[in-house]
Amino acid sequence: MATKIIDGKKIAAEIRSEAKDEASELISKGVQPCLVVVLVGEDPASKAYVGSKVKACTETGIKSIKITHAADVSEAALMQEIDRLNADESVHGILVQLPLPKHMDEDAVTERIDPSKDVDGFHPENVGKLSIGIDCLTPCTPTGIPEMIVRSGIEMSGKHAVVIGRSNIVGKPMMSLLVQKGNKANCTVTCCHSGTKDLSYHTQQADILIAAIGVPEFVKANMVKPGATVIDVGINRVEDTSKAKGYKLVGDVDFADVEPVAGAITPVPGGVGPMTVAMLMKNTVKAARMITALS
Ligand code: NAD
Repeated sequence: MATKIIDGKKIAAEIRSEAKDEASELISKGVQPCLVVVLVGEDPASKAYVGSKVKACTETGIKSIKITHAADVSEAALMQEIDRLNADESVHGILVQLPLPKHMDEDAVTERIDPSKDVDGFHPENVGKLSIGIDCLTPCTPTGIPEMIVRSGIEMSGKHAVVIGRSNIVGKPMMSLLVQKGNKANCTVTCCHSGTKDLSYHTQQADILIAAIGVPEFVKANMVKPGATVIDVGINRVEDTSKAKGYKLVGDVDFADVEPVAGAITPVPGGVGPMTVAMLMKNTVKAARMITALS
C-alpha cells in the first residue's frame, strides 16, 4: 500500500476553523478570548514565531496583544508584567516566547504565569495535572500529534509508541499524553534519549515513532518497522545555496529514506509545524472558557 503523507497544513486548518467557531460562540456570550504574547529580545526565529501566532489569532477571532522588550530588560520587570497580566481579567492566555536571554531564569518566569492562563502548558501545575490525567492546558506541539494521527484515520489505542527525545517541551509531555486513557492515546510508551543504548532496537518496535531530537535527518529507514506511523517533530536549518535564504528546513527524519518503509509519515515543512499554532488557538479558547466558566 502507498505510504500516507499526513498533511499537517490541512489538519491544522481544520483545527483552526474549529477554534474559530468556539471563539465566536464565546464572543456571542460576551467574552472575546485574548492572548498576550511577550517577546524579549531580537532573536529572528522567535520574532517569526510570535508573528505567526499573532496572525493566527487575527484569523481565529482571538484578540492578541504583543508586548516586546529589549534583550536587556530585567527579570524583575518581566515578572511585574506577568503579575499585571495574571490579574487582568480580560486576558485569558499568556505566552512568554522562549528562549529567554541568558540572564533570565526560564523556569522562574514560567512558574510566575497563572496556570489557568498558561497556554503553553509548561507550568509545573499543568505538567502535574497532565501526568495524572486531570484536564488542563497541555503543551501545543505534543498535543497536536495525536490529533494528526487520529484525524488521518490511524488507530492509536493499544499501539506501541516510541518517542525519541525527553525535552520538557516535546518528549516528556508527549509520553504523558500517549500513556493516558482515551482514543487519542492509550499507547504502550517507550521513551528513548541520548542515554539510550541500541536505539535502533527500540525504534524498530514502534507502531508509532515520534522523533523530537533536533538532529537533521537522524532517523533512517533501517530504524523503522515497515508500516509504522512516523511523526517528525524536528525543524532544522541546513545550508542550501540553491535557496534564496541560503538554507532549507529538514526534520529529524530522513524523509526520502524512510517514506518508502513507513505506513504513514509527516513531511517537514507542512507536518507537525503548522499544528503547533493551531493547538495554541485551541488552548487560548479553552483557557477563556475555563476562566470565565462558559462552555
Ligand atoms: P531538545 O534539544 O530540548 O531535546 C532533544 C532530545 O533529543 C533530548 O532529550 C536528547 O536526549 C535527545 N537526543 C539527542 N541526541 C540523541 C541521540 N543521538 N539519540 C537519542 N536521543 C537523542 O529539543 P526539543 O526542544 O525537544 O526539540 C526537538 C526538535 O523538535 C528540534 O528540531 C526542534 O526544532 C523541534 N521542535 C519543533 C516544534 C514544532 O512546532 N514542530 C516545536 C518544538 C520543537
